[in-house]
Amino acid sequence: MNYSALPQGDPEVFRILQGEYQREHDGLELIPSENYVSEAVLEALGTLMTNKYSEGTPGRRYYGGQTYTDQVESLAIARAKALFNADHANVQPLSGAAANLCVYAAWLELGDTVLAMDLSHGGHLTHGAPVTFAAKAFKFIRYKMKDVETGEIDYDHLERLALEHKPKIILAGFSAYPRSIDYPRMKAIADKVGAMAMADMAHIAGLIAGKALPNPLDAGFHVMTTTTHKTLRGPRGAVILSRGTPGNPLRAPEKTLENLPTLIDRAVFPGLQGGPHMNKVMAIAVALKEAATPAFRQYARQVLANAQALAAQLMERGCKLVTNGTDNHMMLLDTMASFGKTGQEVQELLDAVGMTLNKNALPDDPLPPFKASGVRLGTPAATSRGMKEPEMERVAGWIVDACQGRAEPAQIAAQVKALCNAFPSPSGKVQAG
Ligand SMILES: *Cc1c(COP(=O)(O)O)cnc(C)c1O
Repeated sequence: MNYSALPQGDPEVFRILQGEYQREHDGLELIPSENYVSEAVLEALGTLMTNKYSEGTPGRRYYGGQTYTDQVESLAIARAKALFNADHANVQPLSGAAANLCVYAAWLELGDTVLAMDLSHGGHLTHGAPVTFAAKAFKFIRYKMKDVETGEIDYDHLERLALEHKPKIILAGFSAYPRSIDYPRMKAIADKVGAMAMADMAHIAGLIAGKALPNPLDAGFHVMTTTTHKTLRGPRGAVILSRGTPGNPLRAPEKTLENLPTLIDRAVFPGLQGGPHMNKVMAIAVALKEAATPAFRQYARQVLANAQALAAQLMERGCKLVTNGTDNHMMLLDTMASFGKTGQEVQELLDAVGMTLNKNALPDDPLPPFKASGVRLGTPAATSRGMKEPEMERVAGWIVDACQGRAEPAQIAAQVKALCNAFPSPSGKVQAG
């Protein structure tokens, strides 16, 4: 994009923006929760829609002047419903964490129980980490993998926990788990104990939208939350999708599964949030249109193909991956087993050669999270730049060379930069003029 007002009005801020552009342009992004938006999404995000207050839902607002906010939010809702085969969508949550809290607030009473994935086995902070507010308000019980060598979830144990603790929500979803989930099995367990089946698909929503991975809503899940900025390639934000009958959010409905859409709308506003960010909602609408195209389906398939290639190349070079591979876009590299280095050390080594990833606790990790025994990496961002299997092979080689000290860091860094410059980011350039 060309910027004229910003370089003149605030050169200090514009220099920071140029710095971030250069960082993204030259660096290889391997953090599996990051991606690049298109220039169309960026343009929608940077609009005067940010000027407008629009508390409420389309057609039922508290302030006047809602002609265009109603139009754009209705469009985003319709596109989200169509893309994910849902009865209802709320596109106002400010982030994934907010979306999950809204669902808890919609369905739970204080002290109610949620059955969710153990954090060190891949669950997300918002699934009841002790440091969160949700963990103070609700009770979280944990299921885990049966065997970390295959990564299969222990569904028998999950079922026993469900029968014992009678959770109000059974939560499927992860931020550090490289395998697939048996949604029908989980839904059957939820039905057996009368729990709401909730899926947090923040990481893989784009792969679901692109039909590369199954959709929990198709397996009968009641609610699905997702961020919009990870594999979905939209702005930072979130969507709550649900099954049920949308009703008038101005009236409190009975707490039934059928009423979930209305309960969720009321939990978002006025329950937990104020005015929605309409510039962001506009950008979400644009991203959802992109995600419904054949080109996006091709993208989703390539994300998986690249992850397969990267995992295979790393293992061929002697690396140990948690669960020995991946079914999705991410992998967990056991850096202690592979290189005798902590996740933190490997993160720093790779940062120095222009490859960005994050240290990550491994299942039942003995090290504190700030050190960690592994790193998490993934292919969504590299795939958005057009990289394919041959590039993944080079990336695997650089990771291993850097970690084993087999090549000069400066030499690897130069190769990483050359590769990235040959595959420009879809977000375009930052230029003054
Ligand atoms: C990223 C993520 C979130 C939180 O999203 P934010 O937008 O960072 O608040 C929630 N759940 C899962 C599974 C995630 O991966």
